[in-house]
Amino acid sequence: MLLNDKNGILFFQFPNLAGFSEIQHGIFTRKCGYSKEPYKSLNVSFEVGDHPGIVEQNRDILCRCIKGKEFVYAKQKHATQIIILAKNDKVHSNAPFAGDAMITDVLSKYLVIQVADCQSLLLYDPARHVVANIHSGWRGSIKNIIGKTIEKMEKKFGCRPKNIIAGIGPSLGPCCAEFVNYKKEIPFNLWKYKNNDNLFDFWALSRDQLLDAGLLIKNIHSSNICTKCNTDLFFSFRGEGTTGRFAAVIGLK
Ligand SMILES: [Zn+2]
Repeated sequence: MLLNDKNGILFFQFPNLAGFSEIQHGIFTRKCGYSKEPYKSLNVSFEVGDHPGIVEQNRDILCRCIKGKEFVYAKQKHATQIIILAKNDKVHSNAPFAGDAMITDVLSKYLVIQVADCQSLLLYDPARHVVANIHSGWRGSIKNIIGKTIEKMEKKFGCRPKNIIAGIGPSLGPCCAEFVNYKKEIPFNLWKYKNNDNLFDFWALSRDQLLDAGLLIKNIHSSNICTKCNTDLFFSFRGEGTTGRFAAVIGLK
């Protein structure tokens, strides 16, 4: 991952997405925001108990940093609802969106996923000029929201998976993703991602879901940064309990 500093605001970028000048993207850290403990400090979620006015201020930091006109946040449900914002559709920008993935071909519409251990997956198809942002926690992984989102990109926007560039954001790593109740929670066909200590490698699962959807291995970059091991930089639900959510953003300029 590339670490950028814009006027003191830190954000990471995927090397395979950073080369495209027609898009902007960033994985923001928890640093340089206004929130107090336990949300210290760049918390972008209204859902975790933080002061709404401060969350607004934090969200403004993102807008200033990425210089986006419109940032789209969704109410994330750990399900497989996919929000599509297409040029040809009538876009109701004030609608209270609910969903765990967003796809758009509209310029200046920046898609934001909010996470603390769950994965954000940033996708870009340079052939069709379509971006997507996916929220995939373990529930999303089980339901393969990744595959479902790519299918929508194909059907709705004519994307071809072999053209899609993908980044897997900082999230709970195989070092920390312990599931003691995995027999109840995780389907049998995914137990191959578990080691002897009941630790699951959801990064490997996401990579495989991307490959199964038709992406090329050379177009996939995993940050390999574990949020629970890096609570100085990122919020971690497993590591901290009550905490904030950091932002993963992608959009067409
Ligand atoms: Zn870890």
